[in-house]
Amino acid sequence: MIPFNKPYLTGKEIEYIQQAVVQNRKTSGNGLFTKKCHDYFKNYLGCTKALLTTSCTDALEMASILIDVQPGDEIIVPSYTFVSTANAFINRGAKIVFADSQKDHPNLDVDLLPSLITEKTKAIVCVHYAGFACDMDKLQSIVSEHNLFLIEDAAQAIDSYWKGRPLGSFGHLSTFSFHETKNIISGEGGILIVNEKNFADRAEIIWEKGTNRAQFARGEVSKYNWIDAGSSFLPSEIIAAFLYAQLESLEIIQEKRKLLWNKYYELLSPLKDKIGLPIVPEGSTVNGHIFYIMVADQNERDELLDFLKKEEVLGVFHYLCLHKSPMAKQAGIDGGIFTNSEKFESNLIRLPLYYEMTTDELSYVVDKIHSFYEN
Ligand SMILES: *Cc1c(COP(=O)(O)O)cnc(C)c1O
Repeated sequence: MIPFNKPYLTGKEIEYIQQAVVQNRKTSGNGLFTKKCHDYFKNYLGCTKALLTTSCTDALEMASILIDVQPGDEIIVPSYTFVSTANAFINRGAKIVFADSQKDHPNLDVDLLPSLITEKTKAIVCVHYAGFACDMDKLQSIVSEHNLFLIEDAAQAIDSYWKGRPLGSFGHLSTFSFHETKNIISGEGGILIVNEKNFADRAEIIWEKGTNRAQFARGEVSKYNWIDAGSSFLPSEIIAAFLYAQLESLEIIQEKRKLLWNKYYELLSPLKDKIGLPIVPEGSTVNGHIFYIMVADQNERDELLDFLKKEEVLGVFHYLCLHKSPMAKQAGIDGGIFTNSEKFESNLIRLPLYYEMTTDELSYVVDKIHSFYEN
């Protein structure tokens, strides 16, 4: 069976975990490997602060605390995304206002935003689906015109750029995921990126359970105290050591993933009148996170997935639109017309893509798709 995903190990993970645990005798969080990961992201993004978290979900929850979401605040979120994008704000009593996708792209339709903004709107959360950039020029001008916060859920967007600038560097706050399904992994894991200077000190306090323990560890204060809301958002050094090994290999991982992505695109292009191929937005790069195709309807999707499975290939569909979810109904935020998001829910198929995939395996997958459409 050609799996959909296969987590890649660089070979350095165990060595670094050994260093953290045996040499450094540091298994809790905020040790040397955590600092190495923070520095890596500060270097890469030029952000004010980077804080490793136990997941991207947790990083989004930190963002929700930092922008001080109050009951009744409205947060605009795409309907076609993972639940965590919305949960972080619902958890603090916000009202989620869903936005539809673009007609030809799963990313949210930025042109709809002015019609969704009210006096209660506090933030817009954009998701760079499959690592494709949302229009950051338009987003930044909308949030500054309406005095809103911009949060980038960049969970899928490592090593992707908008007009040469890395995704994750635009939002007041941004988040990445290192879940084992992402390009760079630590099993479970994430990071909060603070680009807005005013959030930097408070972010660190929330991260350390509402205490100034990080300042204490640096010798800046003589004891630490409870000074704000917070939780245990930081991962252990074991996770950070694993992650650092992955970050060191970012370039080779990305080279391979992008090669596979481009190969899919090239080999599937002859089928262009039968299936839709991903559209790379002008100004965006490809980071090889997801390769997807669009088929005619849900029936065809299920038939193709079944066919592939019989041929030992595991393809998968993706998000169920959040605006139709039981949770949205329960929160009274369901309904609305989201023709585009619903089309991506029913017609999108993700194909196998992982570091160890060979071009022969990829050609096999493509051949099977060709033979499906020949019959
Ligand atoms: C993976 C993902 C998340 C959640 O990441 P975790 O690290 O598993 O919490 C959130 N948003 C998007 C868009 C994702 O793809």
